[in-house]
Amino acid sequence: MDNQMMAAVLYGKEHLEVESVEVPEIGHGDVLVRVKTALTCGTDVKVFRRGYHARMIVPPALFGHELAGDIVALGENVRGFRLGQRVVAANSAPCQKCFYCRRGNENLCDDLLFNNGAYAEYIRIPSRIVERNLYEVPAHVSYEDAALIEPLACVLRGLEETSIQPGDSVAVIGLGQTGLWFVGPARV
Ligand SMILES: [Zn+2]
Ligand SMILES: [Zn+2]
Repeated sequence: MDNQMMAAVLYGKEHLEVESVEVPEIGHGDVLVRVKTALTCGTDVKVFRRGYHARMIVPPALFGHELAGDIVALGENVRGFRLGQRVVAANSAPCQKCFYCRRGNENLCDDLLFNNGAYAEYIRIPSRIVERNLYEVPAHVSYEDAALIEPLACVLRGLEETSIQPGDSVAVIGLGQTGLWFVGPARV
């Protein structure tokens, strides 16, 4: 593999450049994925317009965080994955040690690790995400559908929190991903 790749680099407010950068190096517990699909999340649009995100990305930085692809390299300590495997990785992983993680509120983690760089030929998936939030994509699921795992997970969490049941009447507020997915299980 050539050690250069094309990637979108965010430099600041509405300043994005597609340029040649080095293919990320992987550590002992990391995985390198060849990106097959990368999506544009509402958060990416917000970050592009503002030029930053307090916790998720500090420019200049590789951009994009929802992806699915194939494993092309693995660190020597990685277990449970193999070369060529179709995978989807979430963009973050909690520490599972802090006050909030111990109470099951991983979304509030004091030390949430974020990963960016999906708008590129390759992306490094850091070990903490490999251990907690990297999944094999079954053969019958497309890369495009698999890459939606993060928004889908948000919706499923929302459904659990609201205790919504099939047959309930619901009001859908907003036109975001959540609104679309809420229509499914309920009668409207
Ligand atoms: Zn997202
Ligand atoms: Zn934590």
